[in-house]
Amino acid sequence: MPENTGPVAAKHTAEEAIVQTAYSAFIRHTQTCAECRTGGMDCVTAAELRQEYRAAKTNAGGATR
Ligand SMILES: [Zn+2]
Repeated sequence: MPENTGPVAAKHTAEEAIVQTAYSAFIRHTQTCAECRTGGMDCVTAAELRQEYRAAKTNAGGATR
C-alpha cells in the first residue's frame, strides 16, 4: 500500500510546510527585530506571526502535541 502518496499525504505535507514556513517567519522576525530582542516581548508584527503559526498548526490537525 502506498502510504506516502495520495491526496491525504500531500495535504499533510503541504500543511506541514505551511507550519514550518510560519514558524521560520516568526523566529526570523524575533531574531532580527530590535523591538522583540530588547523588549523581550512580542511586538505587533511578532504577535501576528505567532498567531499565523498557531493557526497553521491547528489547521494541520494537531499532528504535534
Ligand atoms: Zn518584532
